[in-house]
Parts: sequence; structure tokens; C-alpha cells
Amino acid sequence: MFDKLFNFVLKKSCPLCDRATSETFCLDCQRRLDRDRFSHPAQFWQDQPRVFVWGNYTDTLKRTISRLKYDRHPELATPLGEALARSWLEASLTQNKLAIVPIPMHSEKQQQRGYNQAELISRAFCNITGDLHQPSGLQRIRATEALFNLSPRQREQTLSQVFEIGKICRDRQVLLIDDIYTTGATARAAIQVLHRHQIRVLGVAVVAKPSWDVRREARK
Ligand SMILES: [Zn+2]
Repeated sequence: MFDKLFNFVLKKSCPLCDRATSETFCLDCQRRLDRDRFSHPAQFWQDQPRVFVWGNYTDTLKRTISRLKYDRHPELATPLGEALARSWLEASLTQNKLAIVPIPMHSEKQQQRGYNQAELISRAFCNITGDLHQPSGLQRIRATEALFNLSPRQREQTLSQVFEIGKICRDRQVLLIDDIYTTGATARAAIQVLHRHQIRVLGVAVVAKPSWDVRREARK
């Protein structure tokens, strides 16, 4: 209902530039968004953890995610999740049907925002791939507002107590989904918890990863 209402309102104008459009984005913004797409979304699939990335966290993609998260545009999760899913299917990295688990937000924060963008993205993803959506597969039991000021080591330690297992299908490998992948600390913490419960994790799929981070990771 909420989504439908938003979609109805947004048919009038592009959420990125306010120009009139009958699609989610105007033609111009859609073209710009496509430019931020990685030609090799599986380029980080050899990393630990394995990461599948739709595009570069820059320009139009960065603005779209910011509109989604901070400007009350939950409907933008749908085209992003669908684009991620189409790239994922194209890459054909597994033949197995998966359990798709979004990285959860702390309930207080989610209440403030009204939605968890990762969950909306993963729902759109599953609509395309037919994988099993497990929005409560992980729970975030602690807020992580203060992570910014911590050293990488302290950050990992704090994060290791942030997640707990939720309602999850144990027969399938898990693909975690998030909007952005930066240092990977959050994903590693989530994977740790799943492993602790003997749940197999295939990897992480995200809409965007900043390329500056690629360089930073390489320096480590
Ligand atoms: Zn536009």
C-alpha cells in the first residue's frame, strides 16, 4: 500500500532530477545510472568474503542510494534490487537456489527511517531470481552508531556482538544482501554469526562499492 502510494506520486517526476517521466527514472538519469554499473560485477568474487557488486558507489548511483536511504524514497530499492538480480543471474555463479538474507538495521534506526533499504533491495532481488527471501534471517541486537570513532580492531570486536541468528532456512546456502559494501567489517561479522550456527554462506551481493575502497583494501 505504502509502496504503491509512493510509486503513484513518483510517476510524475524523476526522483533524481524532478523532470517529468513515466518510468522510475527519466531517460537521462537512467543512462547516467547505467554508466556507474561495473562491466565485471564478479570482479570481487575471489575476495574473502566473496562480494558481488552491481556498480561503483559514485555519481548517480551514489545519489540514488542516498535518496533511497535519507530522503524517504523506499521505492528506489526496487529498480536497484532488480538490476542487481539481473546481473547476478547473468553472472551465473551458482546453480543452487539460495536463502537471501538482508543485512539488518537496528530496530530503533529502522523505526526512524520506516524501512530497511537492504531488505527492500533483497525483496526485489528475490522477485527476479526466485530465491527464498529471509528478511529475518539475521537480527541486529545492538546499535552501531559509535563505530565511526573506533579503530578497525575495536570495530570488528564491537561488530562481532551486533548480530544474532533469526528465522532462517538451514538447508540452503545464504547470500547476504546490502546496499553498500565498504570495509567489509559488517559482512564479516554477519558471516561469523551464520557460521557459528553451521549455516553455509555463499557470499555477499551489494548494489554499490566505492572504488576508493578497492584501493584501500589493496594496500592492507
Ligand atoms: Zn532524472
